[in-house]
Amino acid sequence: MLHIGCHLSSSDGFEAMGKTALSIGADTFQFFTRNPRGSKAKAIDPQDAAALRTLLQEHHFAPLIAHAPYTLNPASADVKTRQFALQTMQDDLQRMEYLPGNLYNFHPGSHVGQGTEKGIELIIELLNKILTPKQTTTVLLETMAGKGSEIGRNFDELKQILDGVKLNEKMGVCLDTCHVHDAGYDLTKLDDVLTAFDKQIGLSLLKAVHLNDSLNPLGAHKDRHAVIGGGQIGTEVLAGVINHPALKQLPFCLETPNDLKGYAAEIKLLRSLAR
Ligand code: FE
Ligand code: FE
Ligand code: ZN
Repeated sequence: MLHIGCHLSSSDGFEAMGKTALSIGADTFQFFTRNPRGSKAKAIDPQDAAALRTLLQEHHFAPLIAHAPYTLNPASADVKTRQFALQTMQDDLQRMEYLPGNLYNFHPGSHVGQGTEKGIELIIELLNKILTPKQTTTVLLETMAGKGSEIGRNFDELKQILDGVKLNEKMGVCLDTCHVHDAGYDLTKLDDVLTAFDKQIGLSLLKAVHLNDSLNPLGAHKDRHAVIGGGQIGTEVLAGVINHPALKQLPFCLETPNDLKGYAAEIKLLRSLAR
């Protein structure tokens, strides 16, 4: 069975997100752990978290994806910026234990002129400080479009990060279809893309998929999401992604420019295309 959902606003709390997900036919979802621009997080209401845990179990949800604020930069040249990323992610991981066994996705960061090698070194340093043997959360590196000096623009860069992390059993990868298309991976040749992923990273480390169309052509390095079928990847190729034997058991999450009604329609469409 296809596990699919979309990005939801967390402003009304945990259980509200679960109910919203059910109302649009989703059995997973993604949310920001705090304001996406990275401000202070609201205190967690343990009862609200417990209510969501019950809902997830009763309705057989696939793992959820918590998304770190996208403004964090673990690869920054500025020590204060790196420290802020570290403290935020450390705090997020503690908070995630109210919803044990889920996924925490982050953008590896931008090296801002220091070079890829240095950037990767800084990301590894941060991960080695925040991961703990007891955590139940799997931390995911997101595949990036490669705009500006973004790290994670190819599978090799992600592999280099994973290789440097000591507790790498706590790590995985989230594949974003818009980002990999923009990075130059041709999803019309999905088998080749997944073979490359398997050779360089290992398919067992792929834990989630962000299912998005892209406004821009293959290799554009832009990162502008489009609704399913409204971009350059197209519905047919994205249907191939949800049905691929190596991917079909994963949680798929839409990050398309849509409202709830639009998401419900996309989820319905994709469920109808699932074999
Ligand atoms: Fe993201
Ligand atoms: Fe994404
Ligand atoms: Zn994106």
